[in-house]
Amino acid sequence: MCEVLNVEEIFASKVFTLGKMKERLPKNVYKEVKRIMDKGGELSLATADVVAKAMKDWAVENGATHYTHWFQPLTGITAEKHDSFVTHPDEEGKMIMEFSGKELIKGEPDASSFPSGGLRATFEARGYTAWDITSPAFLKEDATGVILCIPTAFCSYKGEALDKKTPLLRSMEAISEQALRIVRLFGNTEATKVVASVGPEQEYFLVDREKYLKREDLIFAGRTLFGAPAPKGQELEDHYFGTIRERIGSYMKDLNVELWKLGVTAKTQHNEVAPAQHELAPIYETANIAVDHNQLVMETMKKVAGRHGMTCLLHEKPFAGVNGSGKHNNWSLGTDNGVNLLDPGDTPNENIQFLLVLACILKAVDTHADLLRQSASDVGNDHRLGANEAPPAIISVFLGEQLEDVVKQLVETGEATHSIQGGKLLTGVSTLPDLNKDATDRNRTSPFAFTGNKFEFRMVGSSDSIASPNTTLNAIVAEAFCEAADILEKADDFDVAVHDLIKKYLTEHQRIIFNGNGYSDEWVAEAERRGLPNIKSMVEASATLTTDKAIKLFEKFGIFTKAELESREEVLYETYAKTINIEALTMIDMAKKQILPAVIKYTKSLADTVIAVKEAGADASVQAEALSEVSGKLAEAKKALAVLEEKVAKAGTIECQKELAFFFKDEVFEAMNALRTPVDELEMLVDKSVWPIPTYGDLIFEV
Ligand code: ADP
Ligand code: MG
Repeated sequence: MCEVLNVEEIFASKVFTLGKMKERLPKNVYKEVKRIMDKGGELSLATADVVAKAMKDWAVENGATHYTHWFQPLTGITAEKHDSFVTHPDEEGKMIMEFSGKELIKGEPDASSFPSGGLRATFEARGYTAWDITSPAFLKEDATGVILCIPTAFCSYKGEALDKKTPLLRSMEAISEQALRIVRLFGNTEATKVVASVGPEQEYFLVDREKYLKREDLIFAGRTLFGAPAPKGQELEDHYFGTIRERIGSYMKDLNVELWKLGVTAKTQHNEVAPAQHELAPIYETANIAVDHNQLVMETMKKVAGRHGMTCLLHEKPFAGVNGSGKHNNWSLGTDNGVNLLDPGDTPNENIQFLLVLACILKAVDTHADLLRQSASDVGNDHRLGANEAPPAIISVFLGEQLEDVVKQLVETGEATHSIQGGKLLTGVSTLPDLNKDATDRNRTSPFAFTGNKFEFRMVGSSDSIASPNTTLNAIVAEAFCEAADILEKADDFDVAVHDLIKKYLTEHQRIIFNGNGYSDEWVAEAERRGLPNIKSMVEASATLTTDKAIKLFEKFGIFTKAELESREEVLYETYAKTINIEALTMIDMAKKQILPAVIKYTKSLADTVIAVKEAGADASVQAEALSEVSGKLAEAKKALAVLEEKVAKAGTIECQKELAFFFKDEVFEAMNALRTPVDELEMLVDKSVWPIPTYGDLIFEV
């Protein structure tokens, strides 16, 4: 019998929810906290003291000994430093666990060892973490015990953002303010804010831990740097949505339970396209909470895998030749009185507010396609975007048949008189119901697709924080809303003005709409004709942060200062160079100490065989041929290894971070590929029993 899980009971059991605050806080204190959560402002120290005590009491009752300000530096992962609730004992030696309001609101980790891109010299090491009151505190349990985690933003002494959270929160305020101006124009006087909502679908791979530990590349780089394709890949399309195997199923079950306890609404799970690849999607929530929760999802995925003797790989391309992993970032905007601004209704042609919002989003995405592409860049994602795999690095928008038709009517005639309707799907079986069809089919190849009442930004990498994509989305759309509101608020005849503006925006930015196959070569050529940017790598995308256009946008809405943008660009170059350097060193190590020695031994055994066979008077031509083939590839590999070593040494002499990043991309990365080719060919030639590391077949088919 299966143990019965009471999901309603365990859900958010490790979260200091609003409900728990209501139970444990005096009424007036609870009210103040709630007001600040909803409307912003600062908690008084006296109130913070009361909240801190209640939070600590709850945490201690649940086994907590420590607390931490949990933050998201520019490393893309989370950081924490634990402090216990222990205080100085009294003279009788008795100690009381305490946690003050001051400790709750503000922390002061040493900021000097986090990436700052020159924003903060080591002598100005101060950095502050500030409680993000809108994201609930939670308990994390691991070998160190139970830790109370307080989600925070991380800034320098001068208030510059050193993290991914601060700009996101700033962007959420910007979009709320500008979107409110839009809904006011349409007579919505009740809404007090507009919330960006986000639902990220997380893809991941699971591999057996024993095998993982035999591969330095997986350990150090999170991806395979060598590896010939297995005889079978994903060509039979038998893994996507396939039956979930026992071992994976029990992992998923544990993962769900852990996530539910943390208040993460794990909702959907399934096998993905590649063997050993899977996906988990939560229910959408407010952007900053979604960002925090996605970090928890990634962390929990890794932690739970360990318990099942597996390792979770979040890298965007752990295995060449099969699907990589991404994170579909579903994004929408809703008012606090329940209106989804991206809901077209049944007849979008009559929904003027929706059409204006849509026109603004198209304008934003077209104007800042470069920034959006940048926001989804990370080192691993270079293997997906614009490489041999989808989605392409070119930003375009998929609207679907219905909306594309409405846009066409508006652009061509200035009027949209009808909307294509979905109709019925006839199943042709009398016992099956005929289904109502959506007005639009799906398009899996578009990087930015309208999916009914939200946009799905599909470029984001699986290991990346979703903070940057959402910060950028909020910022660019806030700008478009602001420009539209500036015009419409002054208009004498609103109806005419809004009609003209929609037509103008749609006409000017229709080039960004593309409903065809985004993976095709024709699209690359077509996009070029349309003048759409095709930024091929993370390194090339980094400079888009500091164009005049970007600085103007981000400064206007107080999301980034110029200095903050410059620092981020610098951090990206550093990150890229360091990551590829690690990969190159790992390859060198593996080639030198594992692969080449194994092949050399193998050639010896082949040579012995040739001699023995000849001595025995038989024909040794097959053995001799094998020997010469392997020896030839071995020589090639050795040569490529020497080139790679040379390039890595040369990189050590380059000081400018930008130049270094380009050197790693253009020279080191190329040298890595040149080494991989003969090694992978060797793998196909050499006796499996002498190959020193688990193969693709071992890794992805035998989990
Ligand atoms: P699809 O099949 O189009 O991917 P789903 O309904 O499975 O659609 O949703 C995928 C993700 O989109 C889920 O994480 C879901 O919570 C999220 N989502 C749905 N509606 C919204 C919304 N209004 N805003 C943001 N995300 C949303
Ligand atoms: Mg989806």
